[in-house]
This record gives sequence, structure tokens and C-alpha cells, in this order.
Amino acid sequence: MISDIARRSFGVPSRLIPVEELSGSSAGSRMPEIRPERLTVEIAERVAAVCPTTALKLESHGDRLNLMLDYGECIGCGRCIAVGEGAVMAANRLQCCGGSREQLICSWDVRTGTEQVRAGSPERIRAEIFSWVGRALNIRQLDSGSCNGCEAEIVALTNPYYDLERFGIHFVASPKHADMLLVTGPVTRNMAEAVKKTYEATPHPKLVVAVGACGCGGGIFAASPEVVGGVSSVLPVDGYIPGCPPTPAMLVSGILEVMRRLTGTRRR
Ligand code: SF4
Ligand code: SF4
Repeated sequence: MISDIARRSFGVPSRLIPVEELSGSSAGSRMPEIRPERLTVEIAERVAAVCPTTALKLESHGDRLNLMLDYGECIGCGRCIAVGEGAVMAANRLQCCGGSREQLICSWDVRTGTEQVRAGSPERIRAEIFSWVGRALNIRQLDSGSCNGCEAEIVALTNPYYDLERFGIHFVASPKHADMLLVTGPVTRNMAEAVKKTYEATPHPKLVVAVGACGCGGGIFAASPEVVGGVSSVLPVDGYIPGCPPTPAMLVSGILEVMRRLTGTRRR
């Protein structure tokens, strides 16, 4: 019986997601992507009006009318996509995961359809990814007050489909064994001290990655009196991964991007 099951299992082809499909993928996150050539003033006003978090907003600069999109505030509700008439689409690829807070903000001139700020879009290949991960990386996941949505996606990183361990990246139970803190949730008043202590317990050099809209800036809980703010309100942050929650592919891309940016230039 058991030998039959084992024989059948070995005969099933691997469903491990190819590494080149992981890098930069945001499929399923419902994060928006702007098609500037289809933008009109009416559409820009409409999408900014329906956005519940002010991730999308309009700003006038002289003759220019800019549509700003802050991925760090976007919760992936999809409302802008529903009313965007093709000028706002669900993004299948997002290159800003793991970048600085500024790189999460994009801007388009609505009248000319030109992008004002472009998030970095390096085309990454499998060989490059393995060269960035030249050694094992130990991650301590730290929940500073999340709804558990981000954790559910982080747990998926260890399943046989995403298999984060193939990059030499492991989750550890203690900050004393960690190279990176992956911090989810808005930082609540109750957790602020514990977050700082966890950071202090992590040996140098160490990296901090803020995960999700909550980690980037407090997300939907930002206005709560029980919330101190995003992760950067209590810790120095090396990279931000937007989404509510970010998909596992966005998490992998963000972690790898932080490592790529900071290899050889770790600050602490
Ligand atoms: S998907 Fe993001 S940008 Fe679009 S309306 Fe929702 S929160 Fe705003
Ligand atoms: S970013 Fe979204 S999924 Fe993650 S903790 Fe905040 S509310 Fe929950």
C-alpha cells in the first residue's frame, strides 16, 4: 500500500514554480498597474475618488496634473481596476518589491500620459538570483500587530510550490540566529517595545524588511490610536514589500531584491 503511494508520487512531475516566474511576479495580488496611454482626466479623477486609502491621488503641478500611486498604501482592493476602463489593470509583474519606500511611489502626467517617476525594472535571470544568494540567509518573521493575512502568505513560502529553501533562505525561531527580520503588521503600542527588543537581540549585520501595506505605513490600521505606525516608525528599514497581503511571489522577489541591493553594502 505505502509502496504503491510512494511509486505513484515519484511518477508525478514536480510542480515547483520556476524561479524566473517568481521574480517580479505579483499575479493574484490585485495590485494595480497604470496604462498611462489610456489615462484621461475623467478616469484619473474617478480612480482617485474610489481609492479607500489615498494610495491613488491627483496632484496639480503648474500645467501638469499628476496621478500618484503609492504601492505602500495600496491594499489591493481592486476598486480602481473596476472603474479604470482599461487604464488601470491588475499588475502581473511588480518590480518595486524590496525597494526603498520612495520606489513604491509612481507618478504619471495625466494630460501627456508620461510617467514621472519609474520604479526600477531590472530584468533578472535565474543565474543572477543565485549569485545574489551566495550564502544561506536566516529570517526571523516578526508580527508587530498584523491581521495574520501576511503570515498566511509567508507560511506558503515554505510549501513545495514556492520552496524558499532552494535559495538557501530559512526561517528561524530566534532573532539571535537571524540575518533578517521580516516584519508584518502595523506596529501596535503593545508591540512597539517587543519589536525594538527583537531588533536589539538580532546580531549585526542585520536587515529589516517591512511587509504589507501595514508594515509599509500602517495600512488600514494607520489611523488607530493603538497603532504607532509602519515598521519604519520604530526600526530602520532596508526594504519594503507592498500588498495586502503580498503574494508569496512578491515576498520572494522583495527578499531577493533587498539582498541584491545591499550585498556588500550592509550598513549595520
Ligand atoms: S487597489 Fe490599491 S490603488 Fe486601487 S483603489 Fe484599491 S487601494 Fe486604491
Ligand atoms: S497588510 Fe493586509 S494582510 Fe497584511 S497585516 Fe495588514 S491588513 Fe493584514
